[in-house]
Amino acid sequence: MRASIRLFAACSLAVPTLLAGQAKPDPRIDRLKSELATAIDAKAKLAQQMVDQVFSFGELGMQEVETSKYLTGILEQNGFKVERGVAGIPTAWVAKWGSGSPVISLGSDIDGIPQASQKPGVAGRQRMINGAPAHGEGHNSGVPLNIIAALAVKDIMTREKMPGTIMLWPGVAEEQLGSKAFLVRAGVFKDVDANLFAHVSDEFGISYGDESALSLISAIFKFTGQSAHAAGAPWRGKSALDAVMNMANAWEYHREHMELAQRSHYVITDGGDQPNVVPSTAAIWFYFRERDYDRVTKMFEDAKQIARAAAQATFTTLDTVQVIGSAWRPHFNKPIAEAMHGNAVRVGMPKWDDKDQTMAKAVQRMMSQPDSGLKTTVPPLRTPEEAAKASTGTGSDDIGDVTWNVPSVTLYYPSNIPGTPGHNWADAIAMATPIAHKGVVAGAKVQAMTLLDLMMQPRLVADAKSYFTNVQTKTVKYRPLMAPSDQPAIWLNAEKMARYRDEMRKYYYDPTKYATYLEQLGITYPTIPPVP
Ligand SMILES: [Zn+2]
Repeated sequence: MRASIRLFAACSLAVPTLLAGQAKPDPRIDRLKSELATAIDAKAKLAQQMVDQVFSFGELGMQEVETSKYLTGILEQNGFKVERGVAGIPTAWVAKWGSGSPVISLGSDIDGIPQASQKPGVAGRQRMINGAPAHGEGHNSGVPLNIIAALAVKDIMTREKMPGTIMLWPGVAEEQLGSKAFLVRAGVFKDVDANLFAHVSDEFGISYGDESALSLISAIFKFTGQSAHAAGAPWRGKSALDAVMNMANAWEYHREHMELAQRSHYVITDGGDQPNVVPSTAAIWFYFRERDYDRVTKMFEDAKQIARAAAQATFTTLDTVQVIGSAWRPHFNKPIAEAMHGNAVRVGMPKWDDKDQTMAKAVQRMMSQPDSGLKTTVPPLRTPEEAAKASTGTGSDDIGDVTWNVPSVTLYYPSNIPGTPGHNWADAIAMATPIAHKGVVAGAKVQAMTLLDLMMQPRLVADAKSYFTNVQTKTVKYRPLMAPSDQPAIWLNAEKMARYRDEMRKYYYDPTKYATYLEQLGITYPTIPPVP
């Protein structure tokens, strides 16, 4: 059921007698929103170029070098002032335009997924480069969406001589939850009045209150032992790998005694060099996820105890415990979510054509999912109760830390195919096709209209702050999950990217030669290989 549309707080200054939530749209804002939609349609070519370009870079977290260079270049060409290397993270940046209040920030992630290399527009497993990373999550689309929205609003603000500052920023290494808590700590959001985030999805998903996501701490446990000839003198060796395996085993026993909502998983990042040398070093990387600060902190403390015990039992040493990432469970701001949802209903879903639907259904059949195609309606605004029902636990997003420091909402926008597994090559198929391009244009309209709402209605900004102070943070106060001594893991993925970058460079999109990336790759859209 579609809830009645509330154009929240519109024109509350001009018509102060209207009841909250019943304001009728300000004709000036309404006219400017129509103008925004037209202006953004006219930027569809730029949207496609940016989405395709970032897709072709396919960079992993902390190594988004080309991506950040390209996106900040576009922003600088358009009059934004860019600060690079923010919070000690080389690929993080902040771009600002305008002056004075309010300061509204637009953020979105930029990193890719390991081994997700896949030809876009092809409904079957066809790698571009064996083993290479790619945008198997769709993080190539969000900052382009924000740029389109920002440029359109900037034009209107310039002409109408509106005060206000637009700030853009990237989610670096979101897959490792590796940057946003550090951006918060560095004071990036100190003067920001509201933050609009954007994340790829298969529909317009807008909600307020606690998200159905989990808080997270991610850490690498490093053990040291003593090497020896594994056959000639094994009694002289102390295996760090034994400690790692002991820790993993103990964690599996412990798992039985944890609350059901937890999620925890690990990979062994260092298992030694070769079998005939007793491993003198070994390392295991855990993600710990729980609902809140206290529970996830308890999990991490339990893990440290288990790690110490694992070392003791193997006569090795627990060398270091390095925090790689952390994330609070996101909480979205109700007044802003209501305004944003009103804008999503106004914009509506993209006009998918037969090719888009054929592509989507082929991908869904390939994955043995219902071939319902692309979604065509905007769902109602999601309440916290529905979010809680929807899931007993799921992923995490370090946007959570931002949402507990500044009133924020994430705009989920329809640029991918329903039914994909996430963090997978199949999620890359749509991300340089008209499905992604159209979703970004529609999403940019919603983002731009919400940005304009915040710029033109001090009442909305005040309501957002009041919700933040009097509801969201009334009893729960933000404390970083990481220690003051923890630093961004800027070395992450450096080796992996170095291995593939030269080969990937050959496939970077060249918009001066090709209308689209699909054209550059010689791919007919949609390509549906016979099911094997
Ligand atoms: Zn993501």
